Amino acid sequence: MRAALVSGASRGIGAACARALAGTGARVGVNYLKSRDKAEALARELGGVALPCDVADFDAVSRMVETFGDVDILVVNAGIALQKLFTDTSFDEWRRLFAVNVDGAYNLIHAALPHMIHEKWGRIVIVSSMWGVRGASCEAAYSAAKAALIGLTKALAKELGPSGITVNCVAPGVIDTDMNAALDRETLSSLADDTPLCRLGTPEDVAAAVKFLCSDEAAFITGQILCVDGGFAV
Ligand code: NAP
Repeated sequence: MRAALVSGASRGIGAACARALAGTGARVGVNYLKSRDKAEALARELGGVALPCDVADFDAVSRMVETFGDVDILVVNAGIALQKLFTDTSFDEWRRLFAVNVDGAYNLIHAALPHMIHEKWGRIVIVSSMWGVRGASCEAAYSAAKAALIGLTKALAKELGPSGITVNCVAPGVIDTDMNAALDRETLSSLADDTPLCRLGTPEDVAAAVKFLCSDEAAFITGQILCVDGGFAV
């Protein structure tokens, strides 16, 4: 049985990824920061384990992986967003955004890699964003962090390929989760209008792509940025 660790899996895209991977027979680790009840309920439902940990904390992530055990499949999903003018973005806000989205990826991959390298098999999927591909006004910190994850994906794909580990990235468009809860109905509707497939995405849309990239069928795919955005970024 493969072991799949999904960061930020208490809600939204991460929860859908955990469900999808559990559906393939994997034992899932449901990482979360604050939503203990949701994470524990999901872990119970999936026969997995809820793992509280701030992904920005290197030592805490190492301890979490020790607790969970060997990781065969890693989905680097935990993330935070920030909508602000660049000039209004404080350095602390900038640092925290990078700490969770980018340092979090470093911490998780570092902790998971020794087992994958030993096994000469592994799947890493990193959740970026179409704003990391295109850049978004009033989301400079978020766009920069998500673009960093794209560079990380491509570099690690080259470095880890000889060890039998694939590293891919999904770049979701506008997905209907709590992350977009602050957007008003009019903004959401105009974002749907700007999407060639004329709707917002669901967490399951993203999870289906993640599940594929983690599967044996995707064995010859690495270093790719798969936009799951209804055509928005085309
Ligand atoms: P969400 O609904 O806001 O959920 C965020 C998840 O990340 C929650 O499980 C949260 O845990 C966890 N999390 C936040 N900070 C964490 C930390 N420091 N350590 C551990 N876990 C942490 O977000 P989402 O929309 O599902 O987004 C998931 C990923 O997709 C993010 O990387 C996001 O940037 C990316 N994305 C989202 C969209 C979109 O439109 N929604 C588009 C493109 C990319 P708690 O519940 O415990 O707080």
